[in-house]
Amino acid sequence: MTSALPRLTSFTDYLDLYARARPDADAVWHAGTLLSYRALAEQVDAMAGSLAAAGLRAGDRVAVLSTPRPEYLVTLLAAFRLGAVWVGLNPKYTYRELAHVVADSRPRLILSIARAEGREFDTDIARLASEFAVEGRYVIGDDGPTPALHRLPAPVPFVRHPVAPGDAATIVYTSGSSGTPKGAVLSHRGLVYASVVEAEMNEVPHPRVPCNLPINHVACIADLTGTTLAAGGMLALLDSFDPAEILELIERLKLTNLMSVPTVLQLIVMQPDFDWRDLSSLRLVAWGGAPLPIEVIRVYRRLGVQLMTVYGMTETIASITFTARDASDEVLAETVGHFDPGMQVRLADEQDRAVAVGEQGEVQVRHEGLFLEYFGRPDATAAAYSADGWFKTGDVGVLRPDGNLRLVGRRSDMIKSGGYNVYPREIELCLESRGDVALAAVIGRPDEKFGEVAVAYVVPQPGTRPDPECLKAFCRDQLANYKVPKDFVIVDELPLLPVGKVDKQELRRRARA
Ligand code: AMP
Repeated sequence: MTSALPRLTSFTDYLDLYARARPDADAVWHAGTLLSYRALAEQVDAMAGSLAAAGLRAGDRVAVLSTPRPEYLVTLLAAFRLGAVWVGLNPKYTYRELAHVVADSRPRLILSIARAEGREFDTDIARLASEFAVEGRYVIGDDGPTPALHRLPAPVPFVRHPVAPGDAATIVYTSGSSGTPKGAVLSHRGLVYASVVEAEMNEVPHPRVPCNLPINHVACIADLTGTTLAAGGMLALLDSFDPAEILELIERLKLTNLMSVPTVLQLIVMQPDFDWRDLSSLRLVAWGGAPLPIEVIRVYRRLGVQLMTVYGMTETIASITFTARDASDEVLAETVGHFDPGMQVRLADEQDRAVAVGEQGEVQVRHEGLFLEYFGRPDATAAAYSADGWFKTGDVGVLRPDGNLRLVGRRSDMIKSGGYNVYPREIELCLESRGDVALAAVIGRPDEKFGEVAVAYVVPQPGTRPDPECLKAFCRDQLANYKVPKDFVIVDELPLLPVGKVDKQELRRRARA
């Protein structure tokens, strides 16, 4: 492991540390423009002053809709300066999905970029603000004001909030089996712990890291942003994902750490120029969220860089496991590595009793950095823990005699598509809201490109015959694109288990056949 990094209280303390110690070092790159740590600190202070002028106070929530661009990082750090809680919104979300997060998190202000990928956010943000009594709606980025999005007020002097480690920093929405996304409240302590431990595991001083993950995902906030800030590195922010651009940027910006979800890493090696690009600046290729196929691991192995997989989830913030520096390709493909020695981890049976090495059990963890609660949902928070206080991840694994954890499945039936979590119940509820759908059952089918894709089995209402293309168009309208099932199968009835529940194992078998 690399030399220990300081354990400070909040991300803003790392900003201050490097703005003092390395003011001219690169902090952020975006669309050809570089920001030093000094410049980033100035922008953060100006943003905090503007947010204070707009009425944001300690403990308030501020929702931010943005692609990964400097405004994402500047608003995050400015919110922390004021002791406010930052809530990211994904520009890919439909109005319905945005409305859920805004209704649930009740932000005082919404900040939004004006447009992305041909979509104007003006009308949606105005509607959200009036529907959910949001006090202020402001434009961020360089697009200028729009009819409904105002320019932020000029900065006023503000007092830096004395953040405590256990204070809420951000809310990350993650769905449960009920299909309704819940807001996991993450503390400064959890974010800092996750970031420092992972930065130390990465062993790259002042890393230069591309970031194209959605800003509302814990991997963007902790694994990419946090680890980079903790180690005084540079984040290269990319508004959208283009594997060709990432390859070109590795060469041009001398990027050191390629850390992403397997789908992104897979698409990068498939680029025609992968073999002749100068990738000699790379020191680390790391992934999480899902396994990376061994053929792809072998391609990255040829680069002679450190390879690592990590396993964690929104609620644990930090990675629960890391593969060792000398892990073989087999260990990297088949396992998620060793437990973080700083966390208490056990595998437990249905009665929450620890199982022996080699036996299957649910991964359960105890740590002071875990999520604080599901926002406004005490029952769901309590249900996430065992009676003796361990957080239940829902992931089922086996500890191998060599100390590496192999994940074998999930207690819930979540689908993992291209690194995104897709919750069948959410799609089923969407389909069942149609007049011509009596019942829907959604399962995951293995897919070479995305790891898994959703497949929907639909029982029509008597006397109707829904067209699969219409169902797909309907889902596209209601759900983010990564949740839209690839196939819609119209069936007269669904296979049922003896207790009357849909037999999803049988559907998975049919989908694979
Ligand atoms: P999220 O809350 O979006 O970070 O998703 C967390 C889930 O992704 C975990 O509960 C696991 O089921 C899965 N996951 C995370 N990392 C890995 C990994 N390295 N290999 C396989 N599955 C993973």
